[in-house]
Amino acid sequence: MNTTETSTPTEEEFSSEARSFLEANLPLREAERFVWGEGSDDVSLFPERTPEEQAAELEAARAWARTAYDAGFGWITGPRHLGGRGLPRSYQQAYHAVARDYRVPSQSVFGIGLGMVAPTILAHGTEEVQRSYLAAMHRGDLVGCQLFSEPGAGSDLASLQTSAVRDGDQWIVNGQKVWTSGAQFSDIGEIICRTDPELPKHRGLTGFVVDMHAPGVEVRPLRQMTGGASFNEVFFTDVRIPDSHRLGDVNGGWTVALTTLMNERAAIGGGGGGAGPSVTHRLIELVRAQGKAGDPLIRQRLAEVIVNERVASYTNLRAMASLAAGQLPGPEMSLGKLALTANMVRTYELVSAVLGAELVADGGRWGTYAWSQYLLGAPGMRVAGGTDEVMRNIVGERVLGLPKEPSPAR
Ligand SMILES: Cc1cc2nc3c(=O)[nH]c(=O)nc-3n(C[C@H](O)[C@H](O)[C@H](O)COP(=O)(O)OP(=O)(O)OC[C@H]3O[C@@H](n4cnc5c(N)ncnc54)[C@H](O)[C@@H]3O)c2cc1C
Repeated sequence: MNTTETSTPTEEEFSSEARSFLEANLPLREAERFVWGEGSDDVSLFPERTPEEQAAELEAARAWARTAYDAGFGWITGPRHLGGRGLPRSYQQAYHAVARDYRVPSQSVFGIGLGMVAPTILAHGTEEVQRSYLAAMHRGDLVGCQLFSEPGAGSDLASLQTSAVRDGDQWIVNGQKVWTSGAQFSDIGEIICRTDPELPKHRGLTGFVVDMHAPGVEVRPLRQMTGGASFNEVFFTDVRIPDSHRLGDVNGGWTVALTTLMNERAAIGGGGGGAGPSVTHRLIELVRAQGKAGDPLIRQRLAEVIVNERVASYTNLRAMASLAAGQLPGPEMSLGKLALTANMVRTYELVSAVLGAELVADGGRWGTYAWSQYLLGAPGMRVAGGTDEVMRNIVGERVLGLPKEPSPAR
């Protein structure tokens, strides 16, 4: 991209530049029209991919990321000296608003790396790490994953046990992480390790960027109840990380982890509204196809899904506006995530009422049994990125000002 450009375009000029770029490279979304019984009836929340399909999706995602980055739309808010465009967040949103009209290839493989790991590297990484990874991540050359959870540490993340021991200008890492989404195709990971077991648990942690191809890193897929294996166990045996790859201060890893978690909630809640427009649309058509559009109770529940989706999308817009104004992601992101998962529950309960046995036994009818993937995926969404219960604690304490919950182990 052109990093020597000096004048800043107005938002209008930028949007029209974005439209010309997208117009020249992608088909319009308008061409897609949803007709009941035609095309794919997939409503799954987790992708079920064979390794070949996954490799093809990654390649397509990379090809588009490169095209967008090289045209100056891959890292719109990034600092110019690191390869970004140096524009305010509102320009990023302006780009998304235009891009919604085009069939942009899925970029979900980069979701964790760009949504969570990259902002943390930007906030806490050394200049060496920022220069080595940030532009490459935004250009799709490197994929990142989040190595936080362990068998004994999820909601209570500060209990994690994977250790990092200093050896000169390196650290030696040993331990196990779990539920690591996308580790199977990641190049780097953000890992939080225990660096001082003597300190209180939140204070003895340190964050690093680890090379997922380094000797001693072993990734083993975990199959989930949807049938797919989108996350993994990751084992570390004497893995060496240079001290230059440390994020923040030694024993300052809790602050680093919080940066990532706030961005995670923003990334997940940012979807806004549970049943996104296409799922809601499919839900309405399902109710019609099942001959239930005249049932007053079903209509009422359908209206609840639609209203809550709308309210959640406005809450989300408000959160995005405060981000665009330069504020850090806050507890409103927990609200956004809760709104998303609460509407997923409303959605699958309604589908269950409408479909009955056809939800669990494949009768071969288009647009019916496919919903079982949505049903099986929703519990994972209620856990990933902080469980519903933990989100409620955050909202209770930080938004409503309720007393803090008792915390026995410090
Ligand atoms: C689809 C998916 C993808 C994921 N991807 C990643 C990833 O890429 N990287 C990563 O590091 N992790 C990942 N995770 C892990 C995720 O962050 C953890 O599962 C989550 O933080 C919960 O931790 P846990 O599974 O250990 O459950 P626990 O923390 O053991 O919770 C068990 C139950 O207790 C409840 N509970 C726990 N503490 C409290 C409390 N204080 N108050 C009230 N109730 C409480 C919980 O709500 C839950 O119902 C992923 C998980 C899923 C499902």
